[in-house]
Amino acid sequence: MIQIKNPNELQQYMKEKKKQGKTIGFVPTMGFLHEGHQSLLKRARLENDLVVLSIFVNPLQFGPEEDFDRYPRDEEGDLQISQKEQVDIVYTPNIDDMYPRPLSISMTVNKRTNVLCGKSRPGHFDGVVTVLAKLFHLVIPDKVYFGMKDAQQVAVVKALLDDYNFPLELVGVPTVREADGLAKSSRNVYLSPLERKEAPYLYQSLLKAQETIQKGERNRNSIIQRIVDFIESNTHGKIDYVDLLTYPELEAYNFSDGNMIIAIAVHFEKARLIDNIILNSEGELVTEF
Ligand code: AMP
Repeated sequence: MIQIKNPNELQQYMKEKKKQGKTIGFVPTMGFLHEGHQSLLKRARLENDLVVLSIFVNPLQFGPEEDFDRYPRDEEGDLQISQKEQVDIVYTPNIDDMYPRPLSISMTVNKRTNVLCGKSRPGHFDGVVTVLAKLFHLVIPDKVYFGMKDAQQVAVVKALLDDYNFPLELVGVPTVREADGLAKSSRNVYLSPLERKEAPYLYQSLLKAQETIQKGERNRNSIIQRIVDFIESNTHGKIDYVDLLTYPELEAYNFSDGNMIIAIAVHFEKARLIDNIILNSEGELVTEF
């Protein structure tokens, strides 16, 4: 495994590998790696000659009141995990490497962003697509791997690739969960012991919603209200949003054909947690993306 910090060096290296005919799988992350990230790396390992992992806490995707400064970081631990997952190249730039000067051209996401996290975190997805456009040009991957835990991110990145003809394939990897159902997240370390006990109710609320849909419930508002009631009666968390939308378009869903996403975000004292499930119109779980 080699570690590269300089973007030009990375790009040169990747061009060389491309010339040799190697296929490249890329997993972009913000580090503090856990089993969710590892499942992306494992999938990339299976499907490519070379696996590139980037670790970069991207300031552009954090709002002024958000947790950029205290986002958990552990480069040493991350490198150990990368080694274990047989990563070939770890890219660990600093902020000046990625943004040596103010950008002359900015990217703005217009669709799929006025709902869910895009609504609660103005500018978040603009920052995400900006860093990804740069990373895709540096890594030149054949396939990129994203977790469905951040399903809106997958929808937005899919639009980026389609709109701007990036010659690469997006793979959405199912959410990895703790034994009690809590979606693995770097931010889980900020839950108090009580909050950690309550957090699995988020996923349970989604499963209950799925159950009611499978039993025939088709009233969007009542499905949402049940989720709200369930979370409010079982946790001290403050609900940011609960919504049911088409996926990946993220528009109003009317239970005709097509997939739906049920997505939630809940603020605990020091961590905002998100979760979602994607279902077909019959309420069956959709896992292939
Ligand atoms: P992050 O470091 O939080 O930006 O995440 C990097 C990538 O890992 C993103 O594509 C996430 O969706 C993915 N990821 C994070 N948590 C999980 C999880 N529990 N299961 C699957 N993928 C995940």
